[in-house]
Order: sequence, then structure tokens, then C-alpha cells
Amino acid sequence: MNKARKLIIAGNWKMNKTVAEALDLVRLLKHELVNVKEVDLVVCPPFTALSEVSAAILDSNLRLGAQNMSEHNSGAYTGEICAGMLKEFSVRYVILGHSERRQYQKEKDALIAKKALAAHTSALKPLVCVGETLAEREEGKAEKVLETQVRGSLAGLTKDQMEETIVAYEPVWAIGTGKTATTEQAQEAHGFIRRLLAAMFDETVAKRVRIQYGGSVKPANARELMSQPDVDGALLGGASLDARSFADIVKNSI
Ligand code: PEP
Repeated sequence: MNKARKLIIAGNWKMNKTVAEALDLVRLLKHELVNVKEVDLVVCPPFTALSEVSAAILDSNLRLGAQNMSEHNSGAYTGEICAGMLKEFSVRYVILGHSERRQYQKEKDALIAKKALAAHTSALKPLVCVGETLAEREEGKAEKVLETQVRGSLAGLTKDQMEETIVAYEPVWAIGTGKTATTEQAQEAHGFIRRLLAAMFDETVAKRVRIQYGGSVKPANARELMSQPDVDGALLGGASLDARSFADIVKNSI
């Protein structure tokens, strides 16, 4: 597939996989995807498996991501993990503002923006998630919600930092539900986000930023979604827990 930007496909394992299960999964992924050079491939295990997974993928084309981090660099923040700690395991990417964290941990755009800045300060690339709920879409507010989240979660980034940031458009109604946005809905939202980035930063930045789609991506719908001009990859939840489905999504996207 001829794309304007290199595709990036990331697997968000969420709160799944023991260390042993994680190692089994990456062993299979390494084997399945050994020849893939056209796509940036990222696995995001839970914190508890980062160390072992990091060692297991050293000699591969898989890169390591985390699912969250603190906006602080150190200190009395019980239960938190900072960017510097992630760097110890050669983590390169960090998912920020996932809708589950927005929903269950009440994370707001301003906090996500602080985390994104902290990530860049430690040379981690943030994957910043945005997306509307079903009610918001049905009320015709999807673009308004996206604009608020994009402006708020990326506030304060420099142009250089923005170019190294990945935006993940994840309509909340499509996450883990089996309902995927149509290719038209996905392209429309991605195009909207890119135009917004041009207004917030500039055209060059907007052309370089990769915007992933997330929400019930499967081997069967990956090709059509990835063929949209402003869709530059996928953030996978459920499908990333199975080596075959992750690998098939990658292969169907090339
Ligand atoms: C996600 O949680 O980021 C996600 C896209 O999940 P799923 O692929 O399971 O819908």
C-alpha cells in the first residue's frame, strides 16, 4: 500500500498477560512478522511484563510501548510510574489518554497534555488517544468533542514534539464492541483532526503527524481502513492479544 506516512500498528494489551503469556505472545509475533519493514510495530504490555518483553524483542523489529505514565518525574506518587523508569526498559512509546483512563481514572485533557510533555522530555513518543462517545456522535457533537480533546491534550507541545506524537482516533463506541467505524467515518474524523493540527501548528506538521485508528480493528477490516488517505495505522486492543490476528492485521495493511 502506498502511504504518505509510514504506518504504525500498536497493540494495547491492557490488563492482560502474565509474564509467561507475554513471552509466548512476543515469540509468536517475532516469528510471524520477522520480514515486516514497511510498518512500525509496537507492543504495549502491562508494566509487570515490560522488563522481560523488552529483553525478548531486542533482536527484532518490534518496539516497546507502555500503556500510561505519570506526569511527574519522581517523588511521592504512590503507585505511579514515571518516564525515566520506562526508559530503563527501552520503552519508546507510551499510550496516553486512552478512553478507559478518561472514563475510569477521570483523566482530563490538561493532565494528558502534561503527560505528553513529560514523555517528550524523556524522548518517549506519546500515542495520544481521542474519541467521542456514541451519545456525543448521535447528538452531532463528535467534531466539537474531538476538537476539545485534540486542543486540550496536545496543548503546549512544540512543533517538533508534535511531529513525534502519534494521535489515535478511537471512537469510544467502537472500542471492544465489535462495532467499527465505517471507512468514511474514520477518514472524516482523521481528516478533521489533521486540519485541526494544521490550524494549531502548521501544514508541514499536520502532514507529518501519524493518526492511528482504533476500535474493533480486525484482519477483515484492516485493509479498507488503512487504505484511507489520513489513516496512518491502528491501535489494537482485543486483536493484539492473539499473535495470528495481530500479524494478519499487519500483513493485510501492507
Ligand atoms: C483499544 O482499546 O484501544 C481498542 C482499540 O480496543 P479494541 O481493538 O478491542 O476495540
